[in-house]
Amino acid sequence: MEIKRNILLNPGPATTTDTVKMSQVVPDICPREKEFTVMMEEIRRDLVRIVHGEQGEYTAVLFCGSGTISMDVCLNSLLPCGKKVLVINNGAYSQRAVEICAYYGLEYVDLQFRYDELPDLERVEAILSEDKDIALVYATHNETGTGLLNPVREIGALAHKYQLTFIVDTTSSYAMIPIDVKKDNIDFCMASAQKGLMAMTGLSFVIGRKDLIEASADYPKRSYYCNLYLQYKYFQRTGEMHFTPPVQTVYSVRQALKEYWKEGESAKWERHTRVFEAIHNGIRKLGFTCLIPRELQSGLVVAIRCPDDPKWNFEKVHDYCYERGFTIYPGKVDGNDSFRLCALGAIDSDDIFPFFEVLEEAVRGLGMELTKAGLQR
Ligand SMILES: *Cc1c(COP(=O)(O)O)cnc(C)c1O
Repeated sequence: MEIKRNILLNPGPATTTDTVKMSQVVPDICPREKEFTVMMEEIRRDLVRIVHGEQGEYTAVLFCGSGTISMDVCLNSLLPCGKKVLVINNGAYSQRAVEICAYYGLEYVDLQFRYDELPDLERVEAILSEDKDIALVYATHNETGTGLLNPVREIGALAHKYQLTFIVDTTSSYAMIPIDVKKDNIDFCMASAQKGLMAMTGLSFVIGRKDLIEASADYPKRSYYCNLYLQYKYFQRTGEMHFTPPVQTVYSVRQALKEYWKEGESAKWERHTRVFEAIHNGIRKLGFTCLIPRELQSGLVVAIRCPDDPKWNFEKVHDYCYERGFTIYPGKVDGNDSFRLCALGAIDSDDIFPFFEVLEEAVRGLGMELTKAGLQR
């Protein structure tokens, strides 16, 4: 079977291998069968292994949903009664965490920093030392809107200095940027199958410390479907998900994990880095500029300023590229016209060179000047 290969430069779902696509075509099975629960147990162990967690200390809890479900689960389940969350907020995805807190009526501190700036750790510490009601510190590893990489190890060290729980949204870095939960001071991290793992949509997971999940047994229950302790307990008791899992996606994850181990952590990260460099070379040649300084970038997302030219039309450029098998993605930074090219998925630098030929044609097609001096400035 021939499946058209699209190059997805959006921040997930990612381009997948044909073997991952095909792994979903399996005999029908009831997910309560032993065969299926054994597979989920193996997957859960692998998910902990990817971030170098000790199996006895960390566990992976699976949920049926997109990545946001893991953010929701962590925030609503891990906050003790009368305590507060500190959200380090320097981008659209941290802002989403703030909104989750607001929707659940949780007490929170929204510590805002500019989208193009690393958080000021002295300000973080000042708050932690003053506000004794804070129990959870929350940060986003790779702020997918800009591609800014937050210093999670340092933030985690501060959280632990004050005996607080540190939750990191690693949805857009997990299985790409090497993470070591112990060294990086992470108590909880998360991701979903369709991003770094290069599997299909519908399965998300929280990886975190068992003792802290156990300790949350008596915390206020703020959601029925999205409670971490309940789902964890159900897995412990039965090896199953409490409610119906996304069966075919689970098969795709099993295959994606096989391919992950085969490629290896460092080779995979090198490949993503090659793609990232190729994107930078391409935009430099065309004269585009980045929204945030290169030294703040995670190596997975390039957020590009839209040219300051009335002829620029993102939709048209998108459609031209899309028709030729390349998907580009709009930006997510208020007040800034930008678009994104991302380095995740089963792609390599060889896919990026032809993309830039197509992008250049698309830009020329708008009647814009493409000079050596660049599109703008
Ligand atoms: C993709 C992503 C999510 C989850 O988004 P969904 O659309 O729910 O899959 C959460 N956090 C970050 C940082 C992400 O990149």
